[in-house]
Amino acid sequence: MECLVCRDLVQGEGLEFWGVTICQRCEGRLMGLTAGQPEYDLYVGALRSMWEQRLRAFRDRRLKDGDQL
Ligand SMILES: [Zn+2]
Repeated sequence: MECLVCRDLVQGEGLEFWGVTICQRCEGRLMGLTAGQPEYDLYVGALRSMWEQRLRAFRDRRLKDGDQL
C-alpha cells in the first residue's frame, strides 16, 4: 500500500482510513501539526484534493486491482 501523502510504500503499520493509508512518518508529522501552522494547511489541502480525486475516480470507473475505497 502506498502512502497517500509521500507516495512511499507503507511498511508495517500505517494509519488506514477510508481505504487509504498514511505511513507512520507522515502520520507523526500530521499529528504533530496544529491548525494555524503553514504546513497544516498544506497537508489538509493535499489530503482533501487527493480524496476528491479518489472519489471522482471511484465514481467514474471501476477500482483498479488492489484498490479499496
Ligand atoms: Zn508518507
